[in-house]
Amino acid sequence: MKKDIAVFGAGAAGMFVALAAQARGLSVALFEPHARTPNNFAISGGLFPAAGSRFQRACGIEDSPQAWLDDLRAFAPGMVNERIAQSVAEALPLATDFLVDGCAAPFRFLPDMIAPGHNRRRFHSIEPASGAAMHAWFRQAVQAQPAIAWFEALPQVRRQARGFAVDGAQDVLEVDQLVLAGGGFGANAQMVERFIPGMAGALNNGSVTNDGSAMALGLQWGAQVWGMDGYQGQGHTNPGGATRLGMAIPSLGGILVNRQGQRFVAEDIGPSALAPRVLSQPGGVALEVFDAAIEAQLGNHWAYQQALAAGQVMSAGSVQELAAQAGVDAQALAQTLEQVDACSSGQSDPLGRRAFARSLSAPLKASWVTGALSHTQGGLLTDADGRVLLEDGQTMTGVFAAGGCAAGLSGRGADGYLPGNGLAQAFGLGWRLAQALG
Ligand SMILES: Cc1cc2nc3c(=O)[nH]c(=O)nc-3n(C[C@H](O)[C@H](O)[C@H](O)COP(=O)(O)OP(=O)(O)OC[C@H]3O[C@@H](n4cnc5c(N)ncnc54)[C@H](O)[C@@H]3O)c2cc1C
Repeated sequence: MKKDIAVFGAGAAGMFVALAAQARGLSVALFEPHARTPNNFAISGGLFPAAGSRFQRACGIEDSPQAWLDDLRAFAPGMVNERIAQSVAEALPLATDFLVDGCAAPFRFLPDMIAPGHNRRRFHSIEPASGAAMHAWFRQAVQAQPAIAWFEALPQVRRQARGFAVDGAQDVLEVDQLVLAGGGFGANAQMVERFIPGMAGALNNGSVTNDGSAMALGLQWGAQVWGMDGYQGQGHTNPGGATRLGMAIPSLGGILVNRQGQRFVAEDIGPSALAPRVLSQPGGVALEVFDAAIEAQLGNHWAYQQALAAGQVMSAGSVQELAAQAGVDAQALAQTLEQVDACSSGQSDPLGRRAFARSLSAPLKASWVTGALSHTQGGLLTDADGRVLLEDGQTMTGVFAAGGCAAGLSGRGADGYLPGNGLAQAFGLGWRLAQALG
């Protein structure tokens, strides 16, 4: 059997590429070995920045790819994968238009979604805004396309003098181009220990399917890698990893305290950078403290609503009551909240937080959180169109990569991950890649 391209992995990157490639008239074989296990796309918040989209403009938001790049560079100075970031920034509004106009995707701009590091409101999602809903929409969309053949199998691939032979479909497939979109290596303990030793043994709240197996193909063929120590951390994860609070609470005025009732970090550094800081506290946990007025603004925040429904959020009429429920020192917690009061009235924060939004008042809310590794950012280095690069800088003939398999927008460690970088790269690089396929 002959197809134009084989895509390995039906996650955010793979399904986007499949849709965009078939729209160009290409025939696609899409391989997914773990079709019944939620991948990172399905687990994600489903929020992606498309700076400069027409949907933002319709809501009166002035934004542009350049403004987002400026935010990214300010957030992760010296750590930005410039070639990919620029390519992705320009591609994202086009990728969003394609989904809405070309695929009738029910995507929209989320005017109430704020995130640390983003100076504009620029998140987009599906209705309801969640990774699970977005993944489900993509799955039905790819399966409805006659030009996309869907195979639930682990593909085996052989390079040939020209093109590739792929086993895993009913017949061996002959393709000229291969797209590696099997995700990162967050669930591969050996690779995490090797490349991100600080998170070895830490909770992985991403998918078990991110085992690095698709990336390994590129490595085996001599690909160059970039930013292998970069990852998206999640400092708002409830212990156990089944739920998380989402990223918005600090921007709305929430704080984090340790078991002694003391703040230990400028909470506005972002959910990713918070992860190792929370893990370094006694017991590897922190209490995220906020109030009912903040909770009232989280009605559309899917991750928070999941945590709430799972009973992860405490409610208390006073500081003393909250301290007793959580088992932290009441006096220390009261002092901390007094300091927060002072900071929200203009006093500078000894920990360097820039803004507090409000002083917290009863009824108070709180939830225990820990630090988790959500997904890895390092991967196969590509050119601006997703072509995998060899050690000598030449492109690897016929091999493309996007999503967690490919190098992300910014390294290093957890600090460089600006919220939304994951799906931004999966869709943005996916768009560029799909235009470059022959
Ligand atoms: C808790 C959490 C929250 C997140 N929230 C956000 C968010 O709100 N916004 C954002 O931008 N990003 C977010 N992300 C990151 C985002 O989910 C990822 O960046 C994105 O899913 C990467 O897409 P992908 O296609 O590379 O990987 P995935 O979506 O994980 O898909 C990879 C697919 O490849 C398959 N596969 C694995 N090995 C092979 C193989 N050898 N051959 C073929 N197929 C294979 C897997 O089964 C899987 O289906 C979040 C991640 C997590 C874990």
